[in-house]
Amino acid sequence: MERAKLGAREACRQSRSGSDSTLVTPGASIRNATLPGQRHGPKPRHRPAGGFRFRIQTAGRVNGAITQPDFLIANPTTPMTTYHAYAAQSAGGLLEPFTYDVGDLAPEEVEVQVSHCGICHSDLSMLDNEWGMSRFPLVLGHEVIGTVTALGAQAKGLKVGQKVGVGWSASSCLACHECLSGHHQLCSSNQGTIVGRHGGFADRIRVQWAWARPLPEGLDPAKAGPLLCGGITVFSPFLVHGISSTARVGIIGIGGLGHMALQFARHWGCEVHAFTTSESKEAEARQLGAHYVHNTKRDGALKGIAGRLNLIISTINVPQDIPGLLDTLAPRGVLHVVGAVLKPLEVPAFGLITGQKSLAGSPTGSPTAIDLLLEFCARHHIAPTTELFPMSKVNDALEHLRAGKARYRLVLQN
Ligand code: NAP
Ligand code: ZN
Repeated sequence: MERAKLGAREACRQSRSGSDSTLVTPGASIRNATLPGQRHGPKPRHRPAGGFRFRIQTAGRVNGAITQPDFLIANPTTPMTTYHAYAAQSAGGLLEPFTYDVGDLAPEEVEVQVSHCGICHSDLSMLDNEWGMSRFPLVLGHEVIGTVTALGAQAKGLKVGQKVGVGWSASSCLACHECLSGHHQLCSSNQGTIVGRHGGFADRIRVQWAWARPLPEGLDPAKAGPLLCGGITVFSPFLVHGISSTARVGIIGIGGLGHMALQFARHWGCEVHAFTTSESKEAEARQLGAHYVHNTKRDGALKGIAGRLNLIISTINVPQDIPGLLDTLAPRGVLHVVGAVLKPLEVPAFGLITGQKSLAGSPTGSPTAIDLLLEFCARHHIAPTTELFPMSKVNDALEHLRAGKARYRLVLQN
């Protein structure tokens, strides 16, 4: 059946059930398709902060890959204006094929043709609008790897044809105190790649030049995406706290972020402790770099290491035993939270006062910190453990992650 005649939900169901081979390359008739409940026509529905104009169309797909009609493939330095993506129309909804117009390339922007995009737990939180800042239609995806296909007039430091990665941030002002100090991730105008703009579950994406980071030789593009958000988030604490190679470091939650953190800590030279609730991950945590594994479901798991750790990075998004964790810290130790726990943390003042301990947190990392991480991973041959899904199976991948089955990071491939 021709895709244009299908409702978008049905088309999505077909692609999820593996019937992609019946789909056709997009053409004029396909471009008339609309999603249920969506207005179709030349007028923009809304213009988000990223300045995009949305027009709903179906994307073309051949054997699961997002395709473009030949007549749209222009000179590589001329940006496309129509992007094909998968979008959720409402909180918790299925992602459906979605096409939107991006208009002219802004002077500071670059266009990146997406080859791969990791799935972070933050994508799920945004899909579910857990943080109250999701705007629909919503194109998720902020662990992007791709190739620069066009440069705005004022884009710097990149070339057309270069392999780059894009993470949580898509732009910052580049002029404030934080940006000028190299802390662009703390810029008050920092714009999230999937917050008010469309992300990397697409064939292309646009971001400010500073946030498209060149990929060093030696990193596998199919595996590097997760470094751009999950990776930098757990690498930053090592830089922020000036962690030495003799430090003893604990990682809580061996998921997407945690399994990368174990590798970073081990290659940094540290004594590495993994904290997990999953018995099935204990052996793998050791292979990833843990010297010790503590199953926090077992009574007394924390007692045996009282006063030992200099840094704990917590990647879980559920309430945790803060007093017990503070007890595992050595004097001047830091409990560093990156997992987006919604409930307030219950912190006993004396847990901090005695031993001069700190509680800290941080968002992802700066462009230069990302560069350091990519170089560190290339040098030490560090790569996330990934499961690859075609972009057309994005809903299956999201379900897999939601069910806690990811080992350890899911990556979508165009
Ligand atoms: P993930 O792949 O789903 O892993 C989370 C891990 O948390 C799980 O693998 C599990 O590890 C543990 N966990 C899950 N449910 C738990 C429970 N009920 N009790 C105890 N532990 C549980 O998620 P992720 O992609 O690593 O992201 C982790 C968190 O970091 C999310 O909240 C995400 O939004 C946040 N995040 C923050 C930043 C930032 O800038 N601060 C950046 C990226 C992500 P075990 O099986 O080992 O227990
Ligand atoms: Zn993320």
